[in-house]
Amino acid sequence: MAAGEFEVIERYFTRRGAHRDDVLAGVGDDGALVAAPADATLVLALDTIVEGAHFPSGFDARFVGHRALAVNLSDLAAMGADPAWALLGLTLPSADEHWLSGFAAGLDTLARRHGIALIGGDTTRGPLTVTLTVAGTVPRGRALMREGARPGDDLWVSGTPGDAAAGLAILQGRLAAQGRARDALLARFQLPQPRVALGLALRGIATACIDVSDGLAADLAKLCAASGVGADVEGRELPLSAGLCSVAPPDTRLAYALRGGDDYELVFSASASDRGRIGALDAGVVLRRIGAVSEEQGVRIDGKPAGRDAVHGFDHFGGVAPGSR
Ligand code: ADP
Ligand code: MG
Repeated sequence: MAAGEFEVIERYFTRRGAHRDDVLAGVGDDGALVAAPADATLVLALDTIVEGAHFPSGFDARFVGHRALAVNLSDLAAMGADPAWALLGLTLPSADEHWLSGFAAGLDTLARRHGIALIGGDTTRGPLTVTLTVAGTVPRGRALMREGARPGDDLWVSGTPGDAAAGLAILQGRLAAQGRARDALLARFQLPQPRVALGLALRGIATACIDVSDGLAADLAKLCAASGVGADVEGRELPLSAGLCSVAPPDTRLAYALRGGDDYELVFSASASDRGRIGALDAGVVLRRIGAVSEEQGVRIDGKPAGRDAVHGFDHFGGVAPGSR
């Protein structure tokens, strides 16, 4: 970026996020220095969001800043990691101060909430693209992974999947909604809440875990593939929000819940003997048991393979809509 790059970094990206004593050098040197705990494993994740692909053009800058971090925190959550540090790769068409202050505020607010410090990055000119690298810690041997689900385990999901896809559909005028339901669904797309506390609580309980970014069915299939197992989901157990039920026609609700992306909920497996422990967790989000892990490969919904044709209304997501990935 031409003149202004250093002012931009100083004004918007210095001392952002949480203050952490383990940051020995943050923004301002050639690299950041952090004092990683000796007894922990570091969890590192990177996600990029591109205007027009992962969020609509003209999306509020605050939401862009929030989303860029939220999608990354969601990966840390799925690993059971405690968020610590972030690096920001920001590519912008121009150094628009109004946009930058909204973006930095969205990022900063979510970063503070989760105790994560912004310790460095890079700023360049080009089509609007935001990459974050996040790092977190987990006690050795305690990370949650996609592999580890065993036949007979229960399958659980957090929150109410499908809401974010409905929020995007409302934003794009593909779904009509009003009042509280509209606001609630829009918020689920605009300000996804990564399930960090849940990920931490699931250490030692979940046998496998993944976050839902591409859709419940697709991400569950990835967990199953990594674990070498299959899954049987009971459609009637899928937790549908009141908002989704009030705006989506009945024959499309299951499709939103199964195929809608951008929810950033967690799907995990756990031993049936841990139902009581899971029921007693207070991780700020409702948990629902939606089915069971089986030896037979593949994901089935009410006994039918979760292929595209298995779910009514999936055509709703047939196009490549911004944000739906
Ligand atoms: P270098 O030329 O050594 O790569 P830069 O001039 O790109 O350094 O960056 C200067 C400092 O500002 C570095 O500490 C870098 O990590 C930080 N930085 C640059 N861009 C960002 C950003 N978007 N967010 C956070 N820190 C940034
Ligand atoms: Mg640089």
